[in-house]
Amino acid sequence: DSVGFAIIGLGGYALNQMMPRFVQSDRAHIAALVSGNAEKLAQVGDAYGVPADARYSYADFDRIAADKRVDAVYIVLPTGLHADWAVRSFAAGKHVLCEKPMALSAAECERMIAAGKRANKKLMIAYRVHFEPYNLEAMRLMREKAAGDIRLIRAEMSYRSGPTTPAENWRFARALAGGGPLEDYGLYGLQAILYLSSEMPESVSATTFRPANDPRFSEIFAHTGAQLRFPSGAVGQLATSYDSHGINAVHVRGTTGALIMDPGTGYGGHKVRLEGPNARELASGDPEVQFAGQLTHFASAIRDNTPIRTPGEMGLRDIRLVEAIYASAAGGRTVKLAPDGRMLA
Ligand code: NAD
Repeated sequence: DSVGFAIIGLGGYALNQMMPRFVQSDRAHIAALVSGNAEKLAQVGDAYGVPADARYSYADFDRIAADKRVDAVYIVLPTGLHADWAVRSFAAGKHVLCEKPMALSAAECERMIAAGKRANKKLMIAYRVHFEPYNLEAMRLMREKAAGDIRLIRAEMSYRSGPTTPAENWRFARALAGGGPLEDYGLYGLQAILYLSSEMPESVSATTFRPANDPRFSEIFAHTGAQLRFPSGAVGQLATSYDSHGINAVHVRGTTGALIMDPGTGYGGHKVRLEGPNARELASGDPEVQFAGQLTHFASAIRDNTPIRTPGEMGLRDIRLVEAIYASAAGGRTVKLAPDGRMLA
């Protein structure tokens, strides 16, 4: 009863990370492919043994509704296309696994959730880190107060992009990537601040920067910084950039110790340690199980009707916070938040 997935968007992440991992899940398999590029469709279809009649173009996607081999669609397209393809997939009667970030606005996220409910199909956001052993142990340790009461969480997610333009690379185009590094890389930091604190912020203040005369940043921000204030008094600080030397780190500082994750949320090679009375280097397992782990989790939710750890509602929550961060930066003011991430004022 393995779940058949149609992969839509045969780009870097699908081809290099996720598709090779399907064989590691005994509950999920690649049943169909959807691509706008006929040559790539033929080549990838042959490589994965996908039958010719299970290779769809964007134009003939809607006939997938009648394809019993396909239970779910995995959307790995540029972010600005997620909402429309999720709605189309639900209309075809399929479950949807959608890459992060869920979409570019809370309104789009709500449209996706509503379409899933109408179709009575499941929606999961592919937040792989929730299936990654180091992060799972870090969540558990912070809940158990292994560093005491949390006072400060600092997340830094940056790399320096080479020369490019919005026309060459969708990650630099506002219509497909929103404001840029925050939605893409910074989202891991925002997520980590939330799942390590187990709190929702009550207010946010933020700033963005876009240099003049740099073709990379004609549409998106080069960096975004945000400060989150939690009901407990803890403070979260997020810095994310496409124009500074690489880092992928999360530091949690509690009353008695600290948790250092550096790197913390990548594909592998995690280094995580506790400082203080519980000081030790974590050895939590193989980070690479996160890829197939999320496939098995979603397949189980479909087959056994079990709850989804990273549902559309989580994706929506995060995009609400992204919107609040940009509203704060644009208005030069602190934005107050409801517990579900909605802006209050
Ligand atoms: P990519 O540029 O490598 O691939 C994008 C694919 O979409 C390409 O096959 C491209 O041909 C296709 N496409 C269709 N319409 C397009 C259009 N109008 N403009 C540009 N491309 C178009 O990107 P990617 O790195 O594979 O990212 C795809 C999605 O996966 C994004 O949502 C991204 O955020 C997500 N992602 C997630 C992770 C993760 O760790 N979970 C990592 C990388 C990417």
